[in-house]
Amino acid sequence: MDRRSFLLLTAASVVAPPPELFAVSAAQSNKSSTPWYASMRRCGQINYNEHDPLTIDANAWGDYWASLKVDAVLLNGGGIVAFYPTQIAYHHRSQFLGTRDLFGEMVAAMKQRGIRAVARMDCNLAYADALKAHPEWFERNRDGSPRPHTESPWLFSTCMFSTYFTEQMTAIYREINQHYPVDGFFTNGWPSTGTLRVCYCENCRRLFDQLGGVPPEETDVSNQLYRKYYQAYMDRVLAIWRLWGEVAQEKTPQSVYVGNLGGGLDTVKDLKDISQVAAWFNADHQGRSGDTPIWACAQQGRVANSVMQGRTITNVAGAYANAQPNWRHVSKSPAELTMWLAQTTASGMVPWFHWLGGSPEDTRWREVGHSFFNWIADNQAHFRNRSSVADLAVLYPQRTVAFYSRPESHRPRYRGGPIDYLQGLYFALLEGRFVFDFVHESNLDESALKKYRALLIPNAAYLSDRQCEVIRGYVNSGGSLLATFETSRYDEWGNPRPDFQLADMFGAHAAGEVIGPRGNSYARIEARHPVIDDFKGTALLPGAENRVPIRADSPLVLSIVPAYPAFPPEMVYPRAPRTTEPAAVFRETGKSRIAYFAGDVDRTCWRSGDDDLSHLLQNAINWIRGADPVVFISGAGLIEVFAWETEPGYALHILNYTNPNATRGYIRGAYPIGPQQVRFRTDGRAIRSARTLRPGTPLKFHQQDRTVSFEIPAIGDYEVVALT
Ligand SMILES: [Zn+2]
Repeated sequence: MDRRSFLLLTAASVVAPPPELFAVSAAQSNKSSTPWYASMRRCGQINYNEHDPLTIDANAWGDYWASLKVDAVLLNGGGIVAFYPTQIAYHHRSQFLGTRDLFGEMVAAMKQRGIRAVARMDCNLAYADALKAHPEWFERNRDGSPRPHTESPWLFSTCMFSTYFTEQMTAIYREINQHYPVDGFFTNGWPSTGTLRVCYCENCRRLFDQLGGVPPEETDVSNQLYRKYYQAYMDRVLAIWRLWGEVAQEKTPQSVYVGNLGGGLDTVKDLKDISQVAAWFNADHQGRSGDTPIWACAQQGRVANSVMQGRTITNVAGAYANAQPNWRHVSKSPAELTMWLAQTTASGMVPWFHWLGGSPEDTRWREVGHSFFNWIADNQAHFRNRSSVADLAVLYPQRTVAFYSRPESHRPRYRGGPIDYLQGLYFALLEGRFVFDFVHESNLDESALKKYRALLIPNAAYLSDRQCEVIRGYVNSGGSLLATFETSRYDEWGNPRPDFQLADMFGAHAAGEVIGPRGNSYARIEARHPVIDDFKGTALLPGAENRVPIRADSPLVLSIVPAYPAFPPEMVYPRAPRTTEPAAVFRETGKSRIAYFAGDVDRTCWRSGDDDLSHLLQNAINWIRGADPVVFISGAGLIEVFAWETEPGYALHILNYTNPNATRGYIRGAYPIGPQQVRFRTDGRAIRSARTLRPGTPLKFHQQDRTVSFEIPAIGDYEVVALT
C-alpha cells in the first residue's frame, strides 16, 4: 500500500516529506541557530480550568514562576476550552471568561518577567455543538456512536485522521500566533506513547479500505492488518507533528510544537520515529502509583535520552497527588516530589513543574519547587551535560517492549509483562551500582556502541537481521555481551526463527520450545567460574521461571535442575537432580566476554525480588565488563548513579533510594546513607576541585593518572559531586 498517497487523500492540507528529509532539514536549521528551548533548564506549568477566569491572579502566578527562575511556562490557550476571546467557530470559550482575556493576561505576566510562554493546547476533545456541525471530526465506535469522555460526558473524542487536526487545530494555532507573543505550542495527551486506539469514523473506514480490512483493537503484531495499521498510524502521527511544527514556525523559526510523550519504559509507539520529528521531547511522566518503583522517573530519562541524544527533554513533575486514586488539588509528599525532580535532573532531563488549578487551597508544593529550582539555578553550569561517561550500554528493545508480550488474550503463558525483563536487569544494575546508558535498538550501529565495554540485552526477542549484524560486529571488534532468554529468536515483526539469530554469539542453540512458567526449578553449580565463585555454601541457585532449552559446546558451568513439585512437602524432591542442559553459557572470544542466560533470569528476578538472581546478574555484568569501571562507588545503600561530562568538568549524580517506600510510594522522608568511597576515571585532565552541590562543600580528593578518588561523607536524598 502507498501510505503517503493515503495520507494525502484523507488530509489534503498535510504535505508530508519523508522522515529522512525532515531529519536533515531539522539538523540544518539547528546548526544555523540554536533554538531557545535547547538551553532551557527550568520549566513550569499552571494548568488552569474553565472556572479559573473568575478568580485567578495572573501577576501572582507570574511572580511565583519568576521566583523559580524558570525559562518557560506552559499556559492554557485553547482546544477544548478557549481562554481568550476566540473568533473560531466551535472553539468553546470558557463560560466564565466574561470580558477577560485570561490567556493574554497570563502571557503578558510571563513576558513582563522575561519568561517564555508556551501555549498549552488540547486536541483530543470537543463539545456537542462541534459534533453536530462537524460529525466527521469525531471518533466513532463500531456502531457509529461518538465517544463521550467518561468523567465529562459532554465532551467527545476527536479523531486524529480527521480535519479537526489538520484544519481546526491549525486555525486555532494561527489565531493564537497572530494575537499573542507565544514561543511555541504543546498538546496535552497527544500523541502519547501508548497503545493505538482503533476508531470507526468515515476517515478511518477509508483507511481500513486501503489497508484491506479492519485492524484488531488489541496490539497484535502477529496480525498482518495490525502491522499495516501500525505503520499508517505512525505515519499520521509524524505528519501531524510536522504540520503543527510548520504552523508554529510561521511567525518565527524559533517557535516550536511539542507533543506529549512519556510512558516510562513501556512504549508501543516507536520513539525513534517520533524523535525524528520532535525537536523537543516532553515526557508526561508525572509520578507513580501502585508498585511502581521510585526510579521510574530516571528510567524515563534513560529511554528519552536513547532517542534524543542530547536534544531537549523535559519531564513533567506533577506536584499534586497523582497516584491511584488521583487527587488533583492536594500536594504529593515533598520528599517524593523532590526525588522525582532529582531523578529528572540526574538523568539529564529538564524539570517541568506542574500544578493544576489557578487558585490553590493547598500551597505546600510551592516551596518544594521553589527550593529545588533555585538550587539548580545556583549550580546551573553543572547541569549542562555534554555526554554520559557510562561504560555499559543497555539495549532498549523497542519492538519487544511494544509487541512481544501483547495482547493479553493471545499471550503465551510464559510471557510476562512487556517491561519485566528490563525491570529485572535494571534492578540488578542499581544493586550493583553500575553506570550505564540505554541504547535504542533503532540506533544500534558501530559508532553508537564503540564507547561501551559491554552491551546488555534483556530479552530482546524481536530483533531485525540488521540489528543482529551490528551486535555481531560489536562483539567481533572486542565488545562484550550479556543476553537473556529469547533474545533474537524472532524478527522485528515477531516472525519466529528456527534458532537464535545470535546463536553463534551466544555459543548456544535453541533446542525446543520455551518451558515454563514453573517455579521450584534450579541451576546447579557444576564448575568454578568467576560469575559464580562467590556463591558459598550452596550447590543450587534459584532457576528462572521460564527457559529456552539449549544446546551448547562449552563446558557446563550451570546446569538445569528441572522443576519438581513444591507441594505437598512429601513430594518435594528432584526427579532429575542432575542434567547436562546448560542454564547459561559463559564464553570468551578474542577480547570479548559473553554471558547468555537461557532462562528469563531478569524477569524472574524482578517478579520474585530474589537476591541470588540479582547477584548472579551483577557478577555476570562485572565479569563481561572486566576490572576498573569508569565509576566505582563502595558503601552501603541502594543508589542510582549518573555520570556526565559537563561544560565545566564532570558531574556525578547519586540518588539515594534506600527507603521503605522505594517500591511503594510515597516516600515520606530521606534515610541518609553513610560514607561512599568513589573512584572516578577522567579523560586525563587535571581536576582542581571536587565539591558536593547539595550542601555545597568542598571534598578532599586524590588524583592518580586518570583516576580521581574521594569520599562523600553522607548522602540524604540526592547528591551531585562536581569535578572541575
Ligand atoms: Zn477516526
